[in-house]
Amino acid sequence: MAISAKMARLGTETAFDVLARANALAAGGMDVINLGIGQPDFPTPENIVEAAVKALRDGKHGYTAANGIPELREAVTEDILKYREVEVNPDHIIAVPGGKVTMAFAIEMFGEDGAEIMYPNPGFPIYESMIRFTGAIPIPIRLIEENGFSFDAETVLSQITERTRLIILNTPANPTGGIVPKAELEKLAEGLKKHPEVYVLSDEIYSRMTYDGEGHCSMLQFPDLRDRLIILDGWSKTYAMTGWRMGWGLWPEHLVPHAQRLCVNFHSCVNAAAQYAGIEALKGDQGPVDKMMAAFDERRALIHARLNGAPGVRCVLPKGAFYAFPNISGTGLSAKEMQDRLLNEKGVAVIAGTSFGAEGEGYVRFSYANSLENIERAMDRFDDFLKGL
Ligand code: PLP
Repeated sequence: MAISAKMARLGTETAFDVLARANALAAGGMDVINLGIGQPDFPTPENIVEAAVKALRDGKHGYTAANGIPELREAVTEDILKYREVEVNPDHIIAVPGGKVTMAFAIEMFGEDGAEIMYPNPGFPIYESMIRFTGAIPIPIRLIEENGFSFDAETVLSQITERTRLIILNTPANPTGGIVPKAELEKLAEGLKKHPEVYVLSDEIYSRMTYDGEGHCSMLQFPDLRDRLIILDGWSKTYAMTGWRMGWGLWPEHLVPHAQRLCVNFHSCVNAAAQYAGIEALKGDQGPVDKMMAAFDERRALIHARLNGAPGVRCVLPKGAFYAFPNISGTGLSAKEMQDRLLNEKGVAVIAGTSFGAEGEGYVRFSYANSLENIERAMDRFDDFLKGL
């Protein structure tokens, strides 16, 4: 068999492997508590489900325009105006099947042999995977625990070379729950004025998921970057719609035809009925989002306190998303050992920090997309496990 060499460079997302192992253990009778999963444990709000059902009954069964139906793209621009306070053209919005697709398209567009692409580390594993797939060189942007898992803009700017094509940013972040402060983003945007050839992919999929009244600072706030900025967002997290496969990208005008050709080549269009659900999600009642975030906030406080009470563990307070990323180096276990032993011996699924890049050694990701009761039970088991070491 002679498949292309680039296939050997394609990575994966370990979270799916841990999920499969957790399910296998549960099927064998183990009581598994899943704090590994990166999706809200809430159902998609009823009004959104109904909009999709109606669309199906109304016969919305065919292909749509590759970039999405106009009403959906309009709804996205209204959402951008409401939450990011910037007016954008609906023709620059491209609806895609999930947030990942905007990521893949942007990295495909800029990655090739010899090019450099910068990405957060620890970060969403698909960034590095896709960068390597294209033949480009992944240049990690180190996230710093002491800075709440933000980066230092000066360091990022100093890593730019004549080969740098794209910088990937993600705030609020997976797996750390960290937020990059506005001042740091401002510094970065200011410094990028000296590098007009470098593009930015801002992964803002957790933009509505912040705590303590800390708003989200979108990269759209920096007008000088607009003609080289790609925004990634979608419905998966905010509206508990991971299985619907709904995402959108905002592209600079000159990249829109390229992104559209990628759509036509890869998936033709997003599931038609899901697009109608997407409109309802954006334009309908936002109450369920607020309720979900209030629940996450309570769980965040609980898990943060429990993690900091565990021997050999310390954890910064997550400021966004629904992940805690404790430092476990004081336990003497590696991240992978902690992941495997906690699952096999105690039935608690978490994800090793190294699944998110080399900089994740010494950390483990706990997702608090689970009930308060299950978080308490999981943390009791975690304490037991650590005491037994
Ligand atoms: N970006 C980040 C930072 C994520 O954590 C995820 C999913 O976990 C995605 C993008 C992909 O989202 P989707 O499921 O919509 O493809």
